[in-house]
Amino acid sequence: MSKKVLIVGGGIIGICSAYYLLKDGHDVTIIDRYGMDSGASYINAGYLSPGHIIPLASPGVIKQGLKWMFDSSSPFYVQPRINMDFFKWLFAFNKSCSINNVNNSIAPIIDISLLSQNLLKDIKIENKMGFHYDQKGLLMLCKHEKSLEKENEVVRLAVANGLDAKMLNKQEIKKIEPNINVDSIGAAYFGCDHHTTPGELIEALKKFIKQKGVKCFANTEIKDYNIANNKIDSISVSNQILKFDEYILSAGTWTSQICKKLGIDILLQAGKGYSVNSKSDTGISCPAILVEAKCAVTPMNGFTRFSGTMEISSVNNRIRKNRVDAICNSVESFYPSIKVSSSERENARFGFRPISADGVPYIGRTNKLDNVIIATGHGMMGWSMSTGTGKIISEIISNKKTSIDINRFNPNRKF
Ligand SMILES: Cc1cc2nc3c(=O)[nH]c(=O)nc-3n(C[C@H](O)[C@H](O)[C@H](O)COP(=O)(O)OP(=O)(O)OC[C@H]3O[C@@H](n4cnc5c(N)ncnc54)[C@H](O)[C@@H]3O)c2cc1C
Repeated sequence: MSKKVLIVGGGIIGICSAYYLLKDGHDVTIIDRYGMDSGASYINAGYLSPGHIIPLASPGVIKQGLKWMFDSSSPFYVQPRINMDFFKWLFAFNKSCSINNVNNSIAPIIDISLLSQNLLKDIKIENKMGFHYDQKGLLMLCKHEKSLEKENEVVRLAVANGLDAKMLNKQEIKKIEPNINVDSIGAAYFGCDHHTTPGELIEALKKFIKQKGVKCFANTEIKDYNIANNKIDSISVSNQILKFDEYILSAGTWTSQICKKLGIDILLQAGKGYSVNSKSDTGISCPAILVEAKCAVTPMNGFTRFSGTMEISSVNNRIRKNRVDAICNSVESFYPSIKVSSSERENARFGFRPISADGVPYIGRTNKLDNVIIATGHGMMGWSMSTGTGKIISEIISNKKTSIDINRFNPNRKF
């Protein structure tokens, strides 16, 4: 049965949900408070990474965060602040930084990431879309033995879970990167990881869904959600009352504010990150994460992107120059022939990752309101998990069996 569906938030998660709802014959509207042209879904590193099997909430993260807490240029920075939602999240996150959380998350993370990779390839072929999609794998470049040992452990886990991953020495790195000197003692290599150029892909999807009839309203604020009979009955927007059968909350980090209005508990914080584009011919051909600096390097269509830092802070538009410089300086340290110019640094952009309390997304119906579905909390992996999330959302609304088991993503889970 065709339903009238409202998607609140038109980042990559909202757009992919619209794509699959449209395919399943629903009448779809997206409302976005801002321009649908910036933020995490546009400035990310573009990785489709089943190889990122370890959730952010894992042993050692809190210790590292505390160590870096007073260094605002560090790659992982938790801004201390007095805020009840932040305290609740931090308490739950701390509790989730356990081996148990890692063990319970690996299989669901791989399932949704592989599902998403396959779906994106299908979307490209089925619709003859020309967006950039590359399958070169991902290097995890290390400068220190200790980091290599940690990467080796992840490779072992990845291989045990059926993924293509291995360790490389300096000579083997040179074979993958013949055109640039890399200052690293070795690397992990995830052959299972692919990459894209985010702005190109999201624009192609947006154009497609609009042409096929999805109504998109950017720069539009929902003033009120009108509740009746344990459901959202309608919304008030631009002096109109609009009614839908189902409501999907996919407003990224801002989903927590909407949930608060609706009386839905969700533990979510903003993880700010930055990216810098370089048009110079860097010679880099394989995407890489500079492990100690936690910085991502991606050869995209016509430029190379350097991105990184995770700043758990309030949502604000401030660009911290020292953090942008830390990203660029780490690139120059791993690739000594690269110089990131001051104008490239000045044009840095930022986005907020929606960070759940255990590093695993929230996908599914809330038990608070009958016609509300949550789709957020993908953190560092929202690009990798987007098409899978969109498909699952449409399957829930269409009362179909979901493509993968979604128990682990239950938005009502307790911490
Ligand atoms: C530097 C950086 C690098 C990254 N690299 C990768 C990567 O390589 N691979 C990967 O998998 N992930 C990566 N990520 C994470 C990924 O980008 C995010 O997880 C993903 O983009 C989140 O998408 P989203 O649609 O949930 O949220 P967003 O992209 O934030 O979209 C949310 C939308 O909701 C709208 N909105 C806000 N408030 C409201 C409201 N009240 N009502 C209606 N709409 C509203 C916003 O305007 C926005 O358009 C990276 C993130 C960053 C910051």
